[in-house]
Amino acid sequence: MSTPVERLFMLFDRTAAILQEELKCSYLEAVAETGENLFHEDVLQEEVSELSQKRLKKEYKEIQLETFTNEEIRKSFQLAVLKGMKENTQPHHQMTPDAVSLFISYLVGKFTAKHLALTILDPAVGTANLLTTVLNHLPGKQVKSYGVDVDDLLIKLAYVNANLQKHPIQFFNQDSLQPMFVEHADVVVCDLPVGYYPHDENASRFVLKAEKGHSYAHHLFIEQSLYYTKEGGYLFFLIPNSLFSSDQAAELHTFLKEQAVIQGLLQLPLSMFKNEQAAKSIFILQKKGSNVKAPKKALLAELPRFSNKQVMQAMMRKIDEWFASEKNQ
Ligand code: SAM
Repeated sequence: MSTPVERLFMLFDRTAAILQEELKCSYLEAVAETGENLFHEDVLQEEVSELSQKRLKKEYKEIQLETFTNEEIRKSFQLAVLKGMKENTQPHHQMTPDAVSLFISYLVGKFTAKHLALTILDPAVGTANLLTTVLNHLPGKQVKSYGVDVDDLLIKLAYVNANLQKHPIQFFNQDSLQPMFVEHADVVVCDLPVGYYPHDENASRFVLKAEKGHSYAHHLFIEQSLYYTKEGGYLFFLIPNSLFSSDQAAELHTFLKEQAVIQGLLQLPLSMFKNEQAAKSIFILQKKGSNVKAPKKALLAELPRFSNKQVMQAMMRKIDEWFASEKNQ
């Protein structure tokens, strides 16, 4: 017997293969198309032959989306997207790994425990794997959410993913370092794109622009995210471990000191990454505001392998203790 996630993944996989052949497109594009079809319970692509239309419709009819949980839908769609990404990997377009998304969701839940309503922004939303994981773990809250990405295929995958999970996210396909038409957020989550930002003229609007040459996109993203956060709002960034040792780390540090308080820095286990240079941490900031106080001690930890249950449970207890002493919860 296959699991619900396997069953739904196999449906995405089989139907994407048919569409890839019919539309002469990449598997990843076909995943977006089949997701769209499944949501509308129809075949929307006119160029598909009659025979394939019949096969596709039969497949879509056999699966009842309402019988799957959001997390099952998200995970199966994620598997199909991962398969597609293997075909043409572009390192900056990598989906946020599941374990990291789940851990960020847990942190968002803890930091916003007292909020009844929230606005969430992901300015580098990609396929919305991270954003929808977070949304799936905020039961009982009224949430409004925004996702922005410059890549048109990824944003299509994101909105198909959101539709299938019935999340009313507002998406924008644009450069997030240009002005964005989004509300200021209570929470920003962002797996930062790391590298140089090629548009020097636009970069010149930012405090964190480079003195010479291209600026660091990840620095500009932090500045832009803080600008679009409400006073007292929280920001959860997935950052490269090298963030505080780069040549422009001093400017970043000064800027952060003025604008935000550091709530935490959690280093992800090195085993999660290909090499030490690729290793990342979760960086938690709170935008300054009238009622914002810096924690007595920031939440600092090196996270163990997530698969090591015992050590991980001990770590979770330590984190819970931090919340008890710092946030009375
Ligand atoms: N969290 C995402 C997910 O779960 O799929 C993955 C984010 S990925 C590490 C970084 C994303 O930043 C990519 O999707 C890329 O297209 C986007 N990006 C890079 N530069 C950008 C820019 N200037 N404006 C908007 N998005 C950008």
